[in-house]
Amino acid sequence: MKRDCPETAGGIRCQQGVATVHLRSRAGYRRAALIVSISVTLHFFLEAMPTTAQKINLLDLDLPDLENWIVAQGYKRFHARQLLKWIHKHGVTDFDRMTDLSKALRAQLRETAEVRVPEVILEQPSSDGTRKWVLQLDGHNRIETVLIPDHTGRRNTLCVSSQVGCALECRFCSTARQGFNRNLSVAEIIGQVWIAARRLGERPLTNVVMMGMGEPLANFDNVVKAMNLMQYELAYSLSKHRVTLSTSGVVPALYRLKEVSDVCLAVSLHAPDDALRNELVPINRKYPIAELLEACRYYIEGDKRRKVTFEYVMIDGVNDSDQQARALVRLLSRVPSKINLIPFNPFPGTDYRCSSPRRMEQFSQILIKAGFVTTLRKTRGDDIDAACGQLVGQVRDRSRRQLVGLKSGARG
Ligand code: SF4
Repeated sequence: MKRDCPETAGGIRCQQGVATVHLRSRAGYRRAALIVSISVTLHFFLEAMPTTAQKINLLDLDLPDLENWIVAQGYKRFHARQLLKWIHKHGVTDFDRMTDLSKALRAQLRETAEVRVPEVILEQPSSDGTRKWVLQLDGHNRIETVLIPDHTGRRNTLCVSSQVGCALECRFCSTARQGFNRNLSVAEIIGQVWIAARRLGERPLTNVVMMGMGEPLANFDNVVKAMNLMQYELAYSLSKHRVTLSTSGVVPALYRLKEVSDVCLAVSLHAPDDALRNELVPINRKYPIAELLEACRYYIEGDKRRKVTFEYVMIDGVNDSDQQARALVRLLSRVPSKINLIPFNPFPGTDYRCSSPRRMEQFSQILIKAGFVTTLRKTRGDDIDAACGQLVGQVRDRSRRQLVGLKSGARG
């Protein structure tokens, strides 16, 4: 629903042209966020409700939506909680197995609803324990989801996709080369978690990072609902400390996120100055670093223990000098931060190379000596193209329009 304000570089107005809000201030961003939120909410039921011929996919509904739907069917609100538990906690898709629901309700559910999970068409295990699933969506679109167990086997992190492809054109990212088709539905996002939880069996899923294909904040409402489902006690019971949203820096949506969620925040930074970030992460041309960091500070305001995780991919000769490490120290000195250094994972068609292990070590030492909690991440799953920045799926690209929009500063 967001469109660029034609009058100012930082404006936003709702699609119907109801209001124009000038940004470049916290209040402006928050007002814009509210307008977008109301507009999207009004459209939700029209989009989510099935036509007479269609069955509603209950995987698409978070708890409030499920309660509204079940009440509209003539049943009590508490049935929504029973359904939620069967679908997400127990992984049951067959209504006849939901034994604490009345026969009449089960019969009605069979008529009007379904639990439709994306189809796994390929499972690829990596030699390091990482697992990649390729999921078939409609027609020609496929997405990828990656499970990353740690070496103890106690921590199982799922990297979840939010869009079919991505329109943001980050230069170091393989997904960007695929173009963009569409946002994922709630069912397609939470379906990735549903699948991983089932396949893990007894070993629980412990963490989710919204860091797969796509920019999660460009699919705001569906991502927020899916993250809510991840956190429900009756569903996957993940605490807010174990769900992380990673963004390339859609600043207005960050202000909006603060109003509705308090999951952990990660930011794809990758450069210590605007000139280089404009090149590596083109959305920076629209929302430069100073505005992004201000939004990050706002997001964690009020909780002294919270930190933003800044992701920094290490590219040989591009962003990995000592001077750039010191610039990063100065840049992040006013934001409670953790820094993740990620070895660049090459993909076909890129000219970039990963920094040498020695360079990465020296870079990280500068950050550590300056007092930053700094992790030099190990590459995981690169033998199955499941490492950071390597997810591609299959995207029927519709992004010429999107890419042109971004180049003229229209996306975000
Ligand atoms: S890094 Fe993320 S935001 Fe950038 S193009 Fe890749 S998927 Fe999109």
